[in-house]
Amino acid sequence: MKLPLPIQRVADELAELPSIGPRQAIRLAFYIVGQNKEAVRNLAASIDDLRNIKICERCFFIHQNADNLCDICRNPNRNQRAIMVVEKETDLVSLENTGKYTGRYFIIGEITKTGILEDWQKLRVQALKSFIEKNLVDAARPGEPGRADEVIFAFNPTSLGDLQTSLLVKELGQLAKKNSRLGRGLPTGGEIEFADDETLSSALDRRS
Ligand SMILES: [Zn+2]
Repeated sequence: MKLPLPIQRVADELAELPSIGPRQAIRLAFYIVGQNKEAVRNLAASIDDLRNIKICERCFFIHQNADNLCDICRNPNRNQRAIMVVEKETDLVSLENTGKYTGRYFIIGEITKTGILEDWQKLRVQALKSFIEKNLVDAARPGEPGRADEVIFAFNPTSLGDLQTSLLVKELGQLAKKNSRLGRGLPTGGEIEFADDETLSSALDRRS
């Protein structure tokens, strides 16, 4: 049957989201209708608030600060000379939740199976290279381009993750005194996003 227009509009929007099929989108739209008005208003307002989110110019994580840096990059207690390269925001959140890591991050964004970086990803890599070369100059090598102490490649333990790692090592490998990757504590084929804290902590400890 033809759905009432307000339901159809919400369902069309929801169906654009990852892992939401058209039937599920319709079910969710009806579920929202069943909520009280206050809950619907809160849902709409919280989504609307996302428009005010900014992207950190250094690591590309989200923030709401007045300047262009996220809470991690602006924190003087975080080691700016250790950089963990991750694919997406949710990976950063999972790794950060372990409380084990005191460096900073760099989000490259989802890399496709072709293993070719999109233009916007090339710009991100360029931004990281310039930051390292300009800001992490080694006192022992004045006048030389800077180098990070460590770049950690934290991609999923899948064949795509391995491809992503070798791609990024090629781009960034020269910019660190030490390159490492997460230990194999993560189950092969698993995803960082869904790994528990303990598994991720041990993968961090056993990075090599
Ligand atoms: Zn940042």
